[in-house]
This record gives sequence, C-alpha cells and structure tokens, in this order.
Amino acid sequence: MAVVTESSEAIVIAGGGIAGLSLALALKQALGKAFSVVVTDPALTAPPRPDNRAYAIAAAAQAMLRALGIWEAIAATAQPMTEMIVSDSRNGDAVRPVFLTFDGEVEPGQPFAYMVANGALVAALTEACRAAGVVLRGDRVRSFESGASGVAIMLADGERLSARLLVAADGARSKLREQAGIGWVGWDYRQSGLVATVGHERPHGGRAVEHFLPSGPFAILPLSDDGRLGHRSSIVWTERAENVPALLALDEIDMLAEIERRFGLELGEIALESPVSAHPLGFGIARSFVGERLALLGDAAHLIHPIAGQGLNLGLKDVAALAETIVDAARLGLDPGAAEVLEGYEQARRFDTLAMGAVTDGLNRLFSNDVMPIRLARDLGLGLVDRLPGLKRFFIREAAGVAGEPPRLLRGEAL
Ligand SMILES: Cc1cc2nc3c(=O)[nH]c(=O)nc-3n(C[C@H](O)[C@H](O)[C@H](O)COP(=O)(O)OP(=O)(O)OC[C@H]3O[C@@H](n4cnc5c(N)ncnc54)[C@H](O)[C@@H]3O)c2cc1C
Repeated sequence: MAVVTESSEAIVIAGGGIAGLSLALALKQALGKAFSVVVTDPALTAPPRPDNRAYAIAAAAQAMLRALGIWEAIAATAQPMTEMIVSDSRNGDAVRPVFLTFDGEVEPGQPFAYMVANGALVAALTEACRAAGVVLRGDRVRSFESGASGVAIMLADGERLSARLLVAADGARSKLREQAGIGWVGWDYRQSGLVATVGHERPHGGRAVEHFLPSGPFAILPLSDDGRLGHRSSIVWTERAENVPALLALDEIDMLAEIERRFGLELGEIALESPVSAHPLGFGIARSFVGERLALLGDAAHLIHPIAGQGLNLGLKDVAALAETIVDAARLGLDPGAAEVLEGYEQARRFDTLAMGAVTDGLNRLFSNDVMPIRLARDLGLGLVDRLPGLKRFFIREAAGVAGEPPRLLRGEAL
C-alpha cells in the first residue's frame, strides 16, 4: 500500500463541498509549505452534479471569501440582497399582508447578504485551491485510525494517507462522524425544500420575499439578471414530504401553475429556468464537534432548516474558527491535531451553532402550520418586530454574522 503523504505534517479534509474547500484554501494560504493540505472527495473528479441551489451568503461570510481572494471570481454574478419582506398568507390569497420588512444593509452600502450560485462558488474555490497548491484527490475516505502522534486515513482505492489532523467535511450523513462514535441528535421535518430558478418579466430590485404558507415557507430570493425573461430569482419552497412525489411528477406547465399560485403576480410573467430539485429537510447536531485527531466541519457537524438561509453560513463560520485555531497553533509550534487545540474549536462554535439551530427549528415549527390562534400570535409578533428599529437592527446583524467578536477571516482579515 502506498503512503501518499511522506511527512505527517499534513492535514487531510474528507469532503470537497464548499466548507471543505474553503478550509483547505484558508489553511494552505496561511501555512504555505509547512503543511501539506489534502482534500479528498469523489465529487472532485466526477462529472459535475447539477445543483441549482443558490445561497444567501451573509456579509461576514462574504468578507471571508474576499479575504481568501475568491470573491472577485464570483462578484459579477452575485446579487446583493437590499431588502427582505415577510408575509403570512395562504396559497392563492389575492392580497398578502406584509408583516415585516427589513432593508438589508448592515452598514451603509454593505448589504447583509449576497445570493451566489452553488456552481459558481464551488468552481471558484476548486480553482483557487488548485492554484494555491492544495492536493485535490477524487477518492472517498473509507476509514481512519487515530493515534497519539497522527491519524492514518484509508481511501476507497486502497491508498493510505497519514496526517496530524483529519477534518470530516463529508456532509450531514457523515460516515466519518459515525466511525468516530460521535452521536447525533436530530429529527426529520417530513418536509422537502423544492428548489428552482424562476425567470420573471419585472426586476426584483434586490428584494427577497418569504411567504409563510401553511405547508412551510416559500422564499423568493433575487439572482443576478439573466435568462429568457431577463430577470431571475431562486425559489426555496418548503413542502410536506407526502406531497412531493406528485409535485415532481407534474409536467412543466402544471408545475409552473403550482409555482405561480405561491410566487404571486408582482413580478409579471414567470418561466422555469431550471429543473425543480427536492432536498429532504431535517435538523441535527453532533454531540461533539471534535474527536481524537478529528474535527467535524459544516453539515457534518450540524444540519438546519433553510428557513433563514443560514446552513452554509454556519459552515463558513466553522471554517473561520477552525482555520484560525489550526494556524495559530501551528505558528506556536503546537500540534494542530492535539486535543487541547481542537477543544478551542469546539468552544468557539458550540454555542453559536446551538443558538442558530434552535432559532431555525422554532421558526419552522411556528410558521409551518395553519392553526388560527398560532397565525394570529405570530402575525402580532411580526408586526411588533416591524415597529421596533432596534430589534430589527439586532436581527440583521445576527443574520449577517457580524454580531459579537467573530474570528479574523469573518472580519475580512487575513490569517
Ligand atoms: C433547499 C436548501 C437551501 C439552502 N439554502 C441555503 C442558503 O441560502 N444559505 C445557506 O447558508 N445555506 C443554505 N443551505 C444549506 C447548505 O446547502 C449546506 O449547509 C451546505 O451545502 C453544506 O456544505 P458542506 O460543505 O458542509 O457539505 P456538503 O455540500 O454536503 O459536502 C459534503 C461533501 O463530502 C463528500 N463526501 C461524502 N462522504 C465522503 C467520504 N467518505 N470521503 C470523502 N468525501 C465524502 C460529498 O461527495 C460532498 O461533496 C440550503 C440547504 C438546502 C437543502
């Protein structure tokens, strides 16, 4: 069996999604030749899987992408979110009362989020990793064995890597988390997020809209102009799981009619600009974010409802915290896989993740129903928030990820 990394001064990241690639880039840029950084994921060499998701990248995560030097590659197609409105209504309601409006600036001239297409972000990160000297491998991690001085990583093709630290960025169904014996507290929402790109006749003006419909939230998120009708938005339509197979079986005309009932007529004629994909939704959090010479990152550590567009943002906050922890330790000559170093990462991320998980879980439960007293109470609550500028500002800063004392990368500073 070949030992691929000769030196044990390596950090191996299993999973080349946005979280894994961002961490690899941050580490390689800061540590240079001192450490070899390897990302291994079958998806890196497989033909690209179509993923029509677009993410609301919060201001802090955007500052990090800028600090990593990849924002320039995606800026031209990123759409600033300049306003957000929330309405509580039923399908087909002629009038949809607006209960809450946010104008989306954290500071003057700084939108609280940008919409970025999944494909553009993955492509820019992969290219930047390659250019920075990250080793990209198209293999699945089959198993690993941690010891006092290092971790041995067995790949599906039979090769073996050795490293100081293994980062599990292998998504919500993380096999590495399971192998490490780290528990997962979670549940299924029995909902799916239906995602599609919708073209429309009139400009969205950077406005994001969230309609709270009885089966769950229906979000209309602004994308940069393009497509047949000139303007585009991404929809994230939360639907009860039992309704999803019949919806996905609809032909394009009937599907468009279903979307139109929820999308409304404000933006004029609409058209489907992508297939509709379905993503089962659940909640989960790992009992620990670290194990022996192992750190969990992104969805491998936590899974939340997309109601507030924060899942990936949480993962990017993990990236900033873990990169800072590893780089600071390495510069002090410490072993980046040592338990005391990893403990710093766990402490930095645990509370924030639990808080965001609780908020998104609560919001989904509160809004995914049609019980009259609950509707009245939530509408009163939304109306109240709308009249309190201080509270609105608090929510915007939390959503933008700029509250508190964020790690250096989230402040747009280099490591
Ligand atoms: C409908 C929907 C809308 C969303 N909208 C937003 C939004 O607006 N804003 C936001 O912040 N978040 C959003 N999210 C959440 C976001 O999509 C996820 O949080 C994010 O994609 C997770 O990234 P990740 O890199 O942690 O994991 P993943 O993207 O799941 O990547 C994991 C990678 O690991 C690889 N892998 C798996 N097993 C192995 C192994 N054994 N060895 C090697 N590699 C392996 C896989 O091939 C995969 O490439 C949304 C989610 C959904 C479902």
